[in-house]
Formats: sequence, C-alpha cells, structure tokens
Amino acid sequence: MKYHLVTLGCQMNISDSGRVKSYIEKLGYSFTDNPHEADLLGVIACSVRQKAIDKVYNLIAVWNRQKKDRPLTTFLTGCILPDDREKFLKTFDMVFDMRDLTKFAEMLSEKIHEGTYYPKLSREEQAYQMDYFWKLEGRQPDKFEAFVPIQNGCDKFCTYCAVPYTRGREVSRSSSEIVEEVKCLVNAGFKSITLLGQNVNSYGLDKKGKELTFAQLLDLIGRYGDESGKEFFVYFTSPHPRDMTDDVLETVAKYRCLGKWIHIPIQSGDNEVLQRMNRKYDIDRYRSVINSIRRILPTATIFTDIIVGFTGETLEEFSNTRKAMMEFKYNMAFIAMYSPRPGAKSSEWVDDIPKDEKSRRYAVLSEDLKAVSSQYTAQMVGKDFRILVNGHDRLEGYLSGLTEGKIAVRFKSQNENLIGSFVNVKITKSSDFSAEGEMIN
Ligand code: SF4
Repeated sequence: MKYHLVTLGCQMNISDSGRVKSYIEKLGYSFTDNPHEADLLGVIACSVRQKAIDKVYNLIAVWNRQKKDRPLTTFLTGCILPDDREKFLKTFDMVFDMRDLTKFAEMLSEKIHEGTYYPKLSREEQAYQMDYFWKLEGRQPDKFEAFVPIQNGCDKFCTYCAVPYTRGREVSRSSSEIVEEVKCLVNAGFKSITLLGQNVNSYGLDKKGKELTFAQLLDLIGRYGDESGKEFFVYFTSPHPRDMTDDVLETVAKYRCLGKWIHIPIQSGDNEVLQRMNRKYDIDRYRSVINSIRRILPTATIFTDIIVGFTGETLEEFSNTRKAMMEFKYNMAFIAMYSPRPGAKSSEWVDDIPKDEKSRRYAVLSEDLKAVSSQYTAQMVGKDFRILVNGHDRLEGYLSGLTEGKIAVRFKSQNENLIGSFVNVKITKSSDFSAEGEMIN
C-alpha cells in the first residue's frame, strides 16, 4: 500500500506533516512521490491563503477523476477554516483536524467521513488530543535542520489572522517531551533546531504552576547544550512582543547553543493600526522590547514581519512603519501586502487600499529594509563568522550557509562534505542581505 502527501503552508504545517507521515507508515503504507501509484492521497492544507485553497481544489479534482481507474482514498487535514471545511467535506473522503490523527486508522477502516471539529472541544480536550499527536515520531524534512513544535493554537485573535479559528486555543506541549526531542535530534546530528509555536513566549501560560515557563524551558535546553559539548543552535519562532520578558533574553544570552537571532513581528509601526489589528501592544512597548534585545543580546540579529496596506492604513500611518524600520534596523523583514483572510475579523471590513498602492508601499518599505540591513552586512566585512553550511550557492563553485544570526554567506568551495557542518569564514564582501567570504581554518 502506498500513500502520497502534499503539504501546503508554513513551517508548522511542514512540521505537522512529519508526524502525519510517521503515523501513516506505521499503518503499513510506504511513501510515493508519484500520486498516480498511491492508494491513499492526502493534503495538509493551509486554508488561510486563497492560493493554497485553489491548489487544494485543483488537487482533489484530479484525484477524484483518478477514482474511475482505481480504488483510492483521499483525506484533508491541517489548518482548515470552518467554511472551507464544509465545502471540502463534499469532495474529500475524510476531513479531520490534525489532533484527530490518532483516530485516522479507525476513520479509514470504519469509513468515517469527518473528525471531531475542534470548536466543539474544551481547551482541556484539545490539550489531551494534542498530547497524543505530539507523542508521534516527528520526521524532519532536512538532514541537519529540524523543527520541534512546543505549542499549538493561539489566544491572541489578531484581527487579520485566522489561526485561532483553524488551530484552536493555545496548548503547550510537555517540556520533558520537548527537551527529549531536542536531545534526540542533537544526537542524530541535527545542527539547527527551531522551537515552533504561534506565540512561543506564552509557552506554559495555559498550564500555569504545572508547566515550565518559556525561559525555564530554554534554560533546560541551554544546560543540555553545555553538558553535551556538541555544536548546535536552538532558535524559536515566533515570540509575541507583548509577552516578551527579559528573563527569556537573559537565558538566550547565558547559553552558547541558544542562537542569537530574534524574530519579533511588529506588523505595523503605527499605534492606530496596531490597535485595529488587535496586536495588544503599542509602539512604546515594542521599542522597549527592542531596547532589551540590544542591551541583553548585543550581537543578535533581529527579523520581523510587517503588513502593508492594512484596512484604512493612511499615508501617515504607513510612514510610521517606515520610521520603525529605520529606528529598529532590522536584518530582515518579511513584508506582506494585506489581503483579507476568510474567517478573520478584518475580512468583514472593506479592503480599501488599492492593490497598486499596496505594491507601492511594499516596494518603498523593501528599499528601506535594504538600506538598514546593508548597514549590518557591511560591518561584517573583515570579520570571521561561524557558518552552518546548508547547500550549494546559486553561483557555481560556491557553497552557502547561515551565520548564527541567520545571515546568508557564500564562500568558494566544491567540497560537498562540508554541507551540514560548521566552518569559519572571513567576510570579504557584502550585499544588501548577505555576504561573501573565504573559508579559514
Ligand atoms: S498573528 Fe496574532 S492571532 Fe495569528 S497566530 Fe500570531 S499572535 Fe495569533
């Protein structure tokens, strides 16, 4: 028996797909790249973006046509909005929430069409199901870079975001399981491990007094890093500015294995927009977080996420985001042009910034980003950096990798054996977001 799986969406969906694969293989299926030879066809979907939804419709149309030629079963899981769920129940054989995966075998044999719909479950019931899910073996998509889920769901309800409606309430995974998984990955040779969650720094708040705080969890991992004597980095994404505390940053500062890279989404530099987004912080609060990062982790790089053209964003409000970009000097910003996500609160509001204007703001802010990030990369020239080599560069004869702060660096080498290991590189040249150098001993 063979199965084929298509994964759409973010790092969390990719991480989920590792557990789905290991579960299905335990049922006796083996993976095939070729959907035409599969008996079981599945999608781990992100129904948050229309593009992904269109792709799911195309896939299921093709798969359902194949049913005329051979018996096959289709399923859909992942982040599915309530409205999409209703529609997809008409086209897929099975639609279920990720936390229902452990009932998959029963659903398959009993021909049960629909899993438990999470809003019908209490937070405790959701936590109970997630505990089962997290106990499954997490296959990694790469040989030296791994993702470890530490939390599921979100309680923040930003108005532009559908995650709380697709993944449910915030539930923290057991800290002992997380540390155990990190240890296994390090022992298996993984060099870069990212702790994943929608709000990593509110880790443990749903189990106050019964579970570690996020800083305590990092401390355990940091201590293990010191004791193991191995070289690896542990990162986390994404923290929420409202919940960021100095003890988290101090813990990162204390241990070598905790990567000096902070991804802290700002979304907008304007207080009015932040309020409309329901981000639960203002720019003064955000500034104090950045100041703490600079003070406690002076070598850290800072990445962010920004939305331009959010409903009602005036030119003045946009200019405040430009000011924030210049003030906080990000190394990287993932800039998105606002588009309403079905199911999210803001999708009920008029999307009143024309597409051309969103594109213009995107281009302007991208130029601002280049201006600030290139200041950092220019300062790298002449210095030595430890690089985790992750593959071939686009330029022939070069390998590339990432610094501890996730700045891309390329260097001349044809030695493929270096991929997946750390090397020292002296930087000789820089560009807007990356650098080039020569390998040294
Ligand atoms: S954007 Fe807001 S609502 Fe969405 S996952 Fe992040 S914190 Fe939660």
